[in-house]
Amino acid sequence: MDAIKEPDELKKKVDECHGVVEVTYPIEVKYCGNCSMPIEYCEYYAEYDKCKEWLAKNYPEDYEKLMLREAEADAGAAAGGMDSDRKRQKRGGKGMLRVKKDNEDDNEPKRVRLSCSTRGKNKRVTLVAGLAAFKIDLRAAAKFFGTKFACGSSVSGDKEIVIQGDVKDDLLQVIPDKWPEVTRDAIEDCGESKK
Ligand SMILES: [Zn+2]
Repeated sequence: MDAIKEPDELKKKVDECHGVVEVTYPIEVKYCGNCSMPIEYCEYYAEYDKCKEWLAKNYPEDYEKLMLREAEADAGAAAGGMDSDRKRQKRGGKGMLRVKKDNEDDNEPKRVRLSCSTRGKNKRVTLVAGLAAFKIDLRAAAKFFGTKFACGSSVSGDKEIVIQGDVKDDLLQVIPDKWPEVTRDAIEDCGESKK
């Protein structure tokens, strides 16, 4: 039984882990007295102005740095014609903590992919993938398509809907009409499916 690890070995691994965490944690975080967030997150707090006041009193150096950053952002916005709020948000964005949602890959933009395929000798089907990413119930969607196109429509696997017939072009219109959160731009025509 090679797969089962000795308890001692496991424990050692855990201990090593803890050691690493402790060693690499010397970062000093300054917490805001107004909103209690680390001060770099204050700008996302509704009472940002009060946070700034607090910062000016307690960490004048950090306050000055912040003012300088904001002045720079504003100057950049004036020069480049870019919205200053947007720019500030973009720069601070990567530092924000993100809560991962279930079944959702944050790096992958949500897309609905349409493709056509031939089943059997010359039976055409349309495949719809990606609706689940928009939190659309696939079974309800399959039923809707079946009614809409008066044809067979079913969920295949856990991600795809198979519609009998070639309705790809209609779907480009029908899907955004039915679910406005799926914009026309989010729908990709993948042409002929190879499988
Ligand atoms: Zn604050």
